[in-house]
Amino acid sequence: MKKEFAVIGLGRFGGSICRELSREGMEVLALDLDEDKVNEYRDIASHAVIADSTDENVLKELGFRNIDHVIVAIGDNIQASMLTTLILKEMGIKMITVKAQNDYHEKILNKIGADQVVHPERDMGKRIAHNIISNNILDYIELSDDHSVVEVKAGSKMGGQTLVDLDIRAEYGCNVVAIKRDKDVIVSPMATEEIKESDVLIVIGADKDISRFEKNLV
Ligand code: ATP
Ligand code: ATP
Ligand code: CA
Repeated sequence: MKKEFAVIGLGRFGGSICRELSREGMEVLALDLDEDKVNEYRDIASHAVIADSTDENVLKELGFRNIDHVIVAIGDNIQASMLTTLILKEMGIKMITVKAQNDYHEKILNKIGADQVVHPERDMGKRIAHNIISNNILDYIELSDDHSVVEVKAGSKMGGQTLVDLDIRAEYGCNVVAIKRDKDVIVSPMATEEIKESDVLIVIGADKDISRFEKNLV
């Protein structure tokens, strides 16, 4: 059976999720208080409805019980976001993803039982900051408060040398978990693997270690 999704709040973030899920052929119920927003998604989502998600009866009437994954993308109205999440949780929705507006909001969402809390502005800000530090830093993914994964172009500082030559784990406490070379991915590379300038390295480690690695080798 096909998975069913619902997106509550069709701002830029929720709207983008709705578009992408629909483009991928998923069944999506789009919901917003605002008539104009809903009209924008009539031809994109499987269903688009004008409704207030803080009204439990409305969500029940719309059949939210049968939805597998709900994305709550209400921004500024933190109270509405929390109340909606709480109602969905009480309805027994298996997977609830919520966009947090700030750290305080995030904390409460976790307490209420949101399965996934996302913080797109903050996370994208971090990614872009790392990309600004060096054009060779392609991506940056937070694993926890103090651990991350970075994707970096090897460049001239690392090209032509092996992992042993660079002694990355011993020197920086980070691990190269994979090397992307053209269409190939070398998972768990050998210490003797010679890095090419055009390689992309996937590096995992504590933020402070990654930071030293970025400063010295990227
Ligand atoms: P973005 O940054 O993603 O553009 P935002 O963070 O600025 O959005 P808002 O514009 O505050 O978020 O909210 C997103 C959408 O959520 C709006 O279109 C708004 O109408 C809708 N919304 C707010 N409260 C509710 C509610 N109780 N029920 C349904 N939709 C709601
Ligand atoms: P370690 O003492 O760090 O476990 P090791 O005894 O397993 O290393 P090798 O696997 O030969 O020795 O690696 C030698 C050195 O090369 C390591 O100490 C490390 O600094 C570096 N190195 C090897 N593989 C990696 C990797 N995947 N990521 C980062 N550094 C590596
Ligand atoms: Ca916003």
